[in-house]
Amino acid sequence: MSIILKMYLFIFLFGTMIGSFINVLVYRLPRKINIFLPRSFCPGCNKTVAWYENIPLISYFFLRGKCSKCGFKIPLRYPFIELILGVMAIFLFPRALTGETLLHFVMMFSTACVFTAMFFIDLKFKIIPNSLNLYLAILYLVYGLIYLPLNHWLIGGLLGVGFPLVITWIFYLIRGEVGLGGGDIKLFGVLGMYLGPVGLIYNIFLSCFLGSIIGLSLIAMKKMDRKNSIPFGPFIILIASWQMFFPESFKILLSYLK
Ligand SMILES: [Zn+2]
Repeated sequence: MSIILKMYLFIFLFGTMIGSFINVLVYRLPRKINIFLPRSFCPGCNKTVAWYENIPLISYFFLRGKCSKCGFKIPLRYPFIELILGVMAIFLFPRALTGETLLHFVMMFSTACVFTAMFFIDLKFKIIPNSLNLYLAILYLVYGLIYLPLNHWLIGGLLGVGFPLVITWIFYLIRGEVGLGGGDIKLFGVLGMYLGPVGLIYNIFLSCFLGSIIGLSLIAMKKMDRKNSIPFGPFIILIASWQMFFPESFKILLSYLK
């Protein structure tokens, strides 16, 4: 095997192992279980998962998606998250390795990990844990201080909190309902620090647009009625992923909108 191929295999395995940890976060953060202890256990029978049953991707297929003791069906989300973060690790890994590109990789891959955790937690529990927003806030603050002009990250961050807060407040005055959750507003604030004021406004409009289309489709298909809500975080994350991981194709979309 060539050295390049070995390196990419190693990076892929690294991504899947981090993905395995993200699965732990998705299960434990919303349930307020310590993320390091106890060791991985089966939610069906509490059996401690042996190390060889905990190998990213491989164990899921080797166990045929079931707990070896009680037959609890392991959600497909587990291998999916491991696979997607393995692929993202390769996709984001710098082609030319310097201190700066490596730092950028750490930031972008951390973002991919946190986005994945937020996406699945919000989808199921309709919350975005503060710890995840805080982690991104620290990351983007450090990045912003080093690489971005003050008026990009500071105004982006303030606008990210302020604008949705005002909209939510107006919505509340008119309808008497709280539209956006606190976690969504904090996430907009955090993303504003990286995307800047202009990128943030694009995110707000496009995620609202995408959310409305999906929401109305679900109502039309009678999978949901107007009373129950769908979580909004996944739409913010999908649009932000597009903006951050595929900025070139996002620019093409913008040129069509103009
Ligand atoms: Zn079990």
